[in-house]
Amino acid sequence: MNRSKLAFAALLIALIAAYFAFGLGEVFRLEYFKSQQASFDAFHRQHPLQAAAIFFAIYVAVTALSLPGAAIMTIAGGAIFGLARGTLIISFASSIGATLAFLASRYVLRDAIRARFGERLRAVDAGVQRDGAFYLFTLRLVPVFPFFVVNLVMGLTPLRTWTFYWVSQVGMLAGTVVYVNAGTQIAKIESLSGILSPGLVGAFVLLGLFPLAARKSVEFFKARRAPGKWKKPSRFDRNLVVIGAGSAGLVSAYIAAAVKAKVTLVEKHRMGGDCLNTGCVPSKALIRSAKLIAQMRRAPEFGLQPAQVDFDFAEIMERVQRVVKAVAPHDSVERYSALGVECLRGEAKITSPWTVEVRAAEGTRTLSTRAIVIAAGARPFVPPVPGLDEVGYLTSDTVWGLRALPRRLIVLGGGPIGSELAQCFARLGSRVTQVEMLPRIMIREDPEISERVMQQFRREGVDVRVSHKAKRFVREGGEKLLICDHEGAEVRLVFDEVLVAVGRIANTAGYGLEELGIPVAPARTVETNEYLQTVYPNILACGDVAGPYQFTHTAAHQAWYAAVNALFGDFRKFKADYSVIPWATFTDPEVARVGLNETEARERGIAYEVTTWDIGELDRAIADGEAHGVVKVLTAPGSDRILGATIAGEHAGDLIVEYIAAMKHGIGLNRILGTIHIYPTLAEANKYAAGEWKRNHAPQRLLRWLERFHAWRRG
Ligand SMILES: Cc1cc2nc3c(=O)[nH]c(=O)nc-3n(C[C@H](O)[C@H](O)[C@H](O)COP(=O)(O)OP(=O)(O)OC[C@H]3O[C@@H](n4cnc5c(N)ncnc54)[C@H](O)[C@@H]3O)c2cc1C
Repeated sequence: MNRSKLAFAALLIALIAAYFAFGLGEVFRLEYFKSQQASFDAFHRQHPLQAAAIFFAIYVAVTALSLPGAAIMTIAGGAIFGLARGTLIISFASSIGATLAFLASRYVLRDAIRARFGERLRAVDAGVQRDGAFYLFTLRLVPVFPFFVVNLVMGLTPLRTWTFYWVSQVGMLAGTVVYVNAGTQIAKIESLSGILSPGLVGAFVLLGLFPLAARKSVEFFKARRAPGKWKKPSRFDRNLVVIGAGSAGLVSAYIAAAVKAKVTLVEKHRMGGDCLNTGCVPSKALIRSAKLIAQMRRAPEFGLQPAQVDFDFAEIMERVQRVVKAVAPHDSVERYSALGVECLRGEAKITSPWTVEVRAAEGTRTLSTRAIVIAAGARPFVPPVPGLDEVGYLTSDTVWGLRALPRRLIVLGGGPIGSELAQCFARLGSRVTQVEMLPRIMIREDPEISERVMQQFRREGVDVRVSHKAKRFVREGGEKLLICDHEGAEVRLVFDEVLVAVGRIANTAGYGLEELGIPVAPARTVETNEYLQTVYPNILACGDVAGPYQFTHTAAHQAWYAAVNALFGDFRKFKADYSVIPWATFTDPEVARVGLNETEARERGIAYEVTTWDIGELDRAIADGEAHGVVKVLTAPGSDRILGATIAGEHAGDLIVEYIAAMKHGIGLNRILGTIHIYPTLAEANKYAAGEWKRNHAPQRLLRWLERFHAWRRG
């Protein structure tokens, strides 16, 4: 907490302490007011405006400081000013006072609370952002929680101040009227509890629940009404139709078949989608060959004679296809048919919320279904850089067709796909220039992690050009050139082939979204709620087409939610859980991450401690000739709770699993340290990082006492 906040908090505490120290609480008692009522009335008769102003100011101060006394003042207001004027004064004074308390709580406490519990508050924040006004209205109307608690707690949420003010004023009005009215009958009131009869409280509860109930009903009817334009079939041929047989579609169909639903999977191109045919599988197969070549070039390091590395690029690309073929049965029509999935080849189009048209060479047929899962994936994004079409380009879809190694290759893009392929082609012998407009490659990772990868790339001969923005492609004197802007200067890069890898864009056109009015989110993915439902609750989306992540494992993870919510959502729905999302980039060094890194923690204002451990010290890494890399773990301050971990080094994608499991199941670094890790393995790096954390948190004072104890025992 900074000094101005501390000073402000001290002032508030001093004011509250003064209230109690000077026994002001006595003044805010019903008996005291009754005993002084005649003089208050006399002052009010002589100076009506001043009386109102003084009363208003005291009321605001009491509520703003969260002091006890607002209820008595409300009754007193009724007694002194009458029902109409009393209500007017108190309604504004209480709302203004509450808003000041709300702002004070926000100013003094919010950052500290956010820093401590930021991650855990994300769901609460999302709820408040969505329904905050309704919740507040309910809390104001139903006097279940004390007035001041609501002010202070709401101050910690992202609720807008103006919303807080007006909802409070409207929500408290009924209660204010009841109390002020009671004040006009002051002679009959003996205690505060006498004002609210159980019947009245019950009425408030019903009134308070009304807005939430109303909202839920509106949502329910909206959901029912959305498909109203179309005629709902009286019966359905299928329980589920899944569009797209990539990672997301395959898993959705698998889950549906496993729970004995009748499910049809429609694929227009190749079973297995991107991952099998043009993504993870071919890229990892190519990485393997490229890595072997790089290792063979290091033969003398391992006590061998320098190796002659001869290869034919076309042969390597053929091996890539053999690997794809070998994995293909896992995603095949045969396998899925045997699992109980009906697999159709053809192009699917949603024609109503319950019908999907499938166009195939054999003809067109319409399937009726209770639910639909859209798993149509994504495609490479091709930026509108002038001249690109004219020079021709490769993408992650087409690069696998290459059989001649490009002599000079430009890789446009410093993300995971661009980085993996840039290093591969460099290892295979291309002169690779990697062009990235941001200040570093692999921008999602912490700067020193990107730097590690970049340094390795440069050592291997990749010409990494960061802060280079592609302006246009041209042909000059029989050569292809990319013209870039680099800090205001023009840079000209010659190449034979360019591989465009600047991101992937969801497939959202041409299969019925437009006709059904299913919105596309600003990220250009199909818009879904947390249950992965589109605006039609029986049409869901998962995988790359839905985002926010673009990985095979997140597609498969979402697919479970999409399938279960599609089939059973009428009874129970599950929110897609993104609390622990891991990923890896298979460069050398490999980079793997789960949870937060330092950059994100700072951006989100989450307090953290960092522990790093140098893999260069690890026995196994030294023995393997791979003594490089780092384990970097973020923990909550003063605790071993893991907020995130990044590993850069050999097999980082495998090593990170221990941290994924730990985060998922709430296991801290102490327990990782207390777990036996096999010697000598790379996995020991995780334990050593935990040990480093432990050393940094050793109880120094206790250790000093122990030192004395041992000295004493030695005599
Ligand atoms: C080079 C590269 C490397 C990658 N490496 C990794 C990695 O190492 N790890 C990782 O986790 N992820 C990786 N990815 C990402 C991963 O491939 C994707 O996240 C994953 O494939 C997404 O699966 P999906 O099912 O959402 O979409 P897709 O796999 O794209 O499947 C969508 C399918 O829907 C079909 N389809 C679309 N519209 C229709 C229609 N109207 N009718 C019928 N069928 C339709 C398409 O033909 C396609 O087969 C990589 C991607 C690339 C490009």
